[in-house]
This record gives sequence, structure tokens and C-alpha cells, in this order.
Amino acid sequence: MLQKPTLIDIGANLSNHRFHADLEAVITRAKEAGVEHIVVTGTSEKASRDAHALTQNYPGYLSSTAGVHPHEAKNWNAQCARTIEKLATSDTVVAVGECGLDYNRMFSTEVQQRACFEAQLQLAVRLQKPVFLHERDAHEDFFALLRQYRPQLKGAVVHCFTGNTEELRAYLDLDCHIGITGWICDERRGDDLRKAVKFLPKDKLMIETDAPFLLPRNLPVRPDDGRNEPMYLPVVLQAVATILRVSPVTLAQQVRSNTEQFFGLSLSKAA
Ligand SMILES: [Zn+2]
Repeated sequence: MLQKPTLIDIGANLSNHRFHADLEAVITRAKEAGVEHIVVTGTSEKASRDAHALTQNYPGYLSSTAGVHPHEAKNWNAQCARTIEKLATSDTVVAVGECGLDYNRMFSTEVQQRACFEAQLQLAVRLQKPVFLHERDAHEDFFALLRQYRPQLKGAVVHCFTGNTEELRAYLDLDCHIGITGWICDERRGDDLRKAVKFLPKDKLMIETDAPFLLPRNLPVRPDDGRNEPMYLPVVLQAVATILRVSPVTLAQQVRSNTEQFFGLSLSKAA
């Protein structure tokens, strides 16, 4: 039998309402697909609390992040900051975020977004946990803030990177890790990304589904509801392996080790 790569999904929004009805089945399918650990993304005060609660229900299989997404930055206040900080000190919370800047849809103002982002960068520095970062159409402002804090940060991953080669190089100069999603499988809009990935050192690569979002467009059979799930992570691995001209199994080993080290996970060797 062909060796099946073991993978870690560094970004799945499993506290999203679209997983409420059948999370158990989603997790079973993920395991069957070779996904041996999932980092559940916290995107708001509530989502971060819910994500943390999930880690208690699936000990060892799920960990989470605690943070406030730029879309939610308008809700950042002292109370929210306290909740995020308290969650972030938990053993099963492995990063601060997702946090960053998103000037694409502007659900919060630029001023709100920058304040919320900077507060979380400071929190990550204080707790010495890595940051899980989101940037969209805001590279310049985002980069300026990140550069300022990077020397004090334990680690930084630009999740769901969709930018071009120049942006990628800028993040690599700051010694960031890069999270690649199924965006790379999108023949309509993944062109810049596919070019950029050729310049991505393998030891900086991590992979993620961003489920329930970003269903890979190249699935042989698409689910009717269009929902993405961690079980599709091998599709992302395969796409990156093809671009880098390496075997998926070899790439998976490298990515797994990057991920364990970055988040401080100590997973027992899969059977
Ligand atoms: Zn994001």
C-alpha cells in the first residue's frame, strides 16, 4: 500500500456554525484522510472561547488559537482583551490570533484594525506565543507593524497567504512562516500565489484548509453545500508538492516537523 502522509491542519474554523451538526463525523473523516492534528482558529472573543472549548473535548487532537480577526476589530475592548489573554495562557492554545489587517471588505475601520492588531502583537510578545496572522489588501501597513514587533515575537505565520513573490520575500525577510490553503488550487485567481510558492523554502511552509471556507476548486467531487473540511488537506499538500516538484510524502514530513516546532506541539508518532 502507498504510504499515506500525515498532516496537520494549522487553520480550521471548527467552531463555525457550519460544523455544529456533524463535527464528530468531520473529525472522523479528517483522521481517515491522514490529518493527525488540527489547530482550530479563534476569530473573535466568542469564537476563541468556543475553539478553546473544543480542544477540551478532543484532547491531543485539537488545539486552538485565541484572537480577534480584523473584521471583528470594532469589538475589541478591555473586556475582550482580558478574555483573549486568559484563553491564550491555556496549554491547548498554541498561538495568538488570528489577527492582522484586512482592507478588502472593511468590516472595521483601518484605525480599529490597527489598534486591535497591535494589542495582540503586544500580547503575543508578553506571553511568548507565536502569532497567527491574517493580511488581505493591507500589505504595507501590516508589514510595518509586524516588522516593528517581529524581533520580540516567538514566531509568526502569515496564514492563508495569497500574495505575490515580492510580498512573500518581504515576509521571509522577517523570518515568517507561510500558511498555504486551497487558494493554490484555484486556477482563476491562484496564479500569483503559484509563482510565489516556487520561492518558498520548505522549512517555512505550513498547510491549512481554512475550513469551512476556501473549498479547493479542483476536487473531483464537490460537496453540494460547498463546505470545506480538514479531510481535504491532502489536496493542498498535493498542489504544493506538484509546484515544488517533490513527493507529497517527503514534503509532508518536512511540513509536519515545521508545524510541530512552530506551535510547540509534541504529537506521538502516528501508527
Ligand atoms: Zn484569515
